[in-house]
Amino acid sequence: MNIRNLIQRARRRLTPREELPNEAVLGFLRVLENARKEELTCEEIYSKLDEYVECEMDCKDAARVMPLIREHLDICHECCEEYEALLDVLEHTERDRN
Ligand SMILES: [Zn+2]
Repeated sequence: MNIRNLIQRARRRLTPREELPNEAVLGFLRVLENARKEELTCEEIYSKLDEYVECEMDCKDAARVMPLIREHLDICHECCEEYEALLDVLEHTERDRN
């Protein structure tokens, strides 16, 4: 199984966000904008998320190897959800394989 497919699957599992009030969305975007000044963007995080999760699955200290990603996951709820969904998918894949 291809990791990109896993990511896409993980992404599709995320619940739709249309019930969020506009205020909340705007506030959230402002937080993201501020975070983006110094941190990696969500797209950059997203492109490295599979690496990060794989690192973690290998029982390496992913937070130490990729501290910027860990930092971003702490402040960005959206990426954190992607990360958790991906981790969940991969953990199940691992288990099925064994
Ligand atoms: Zn993000």
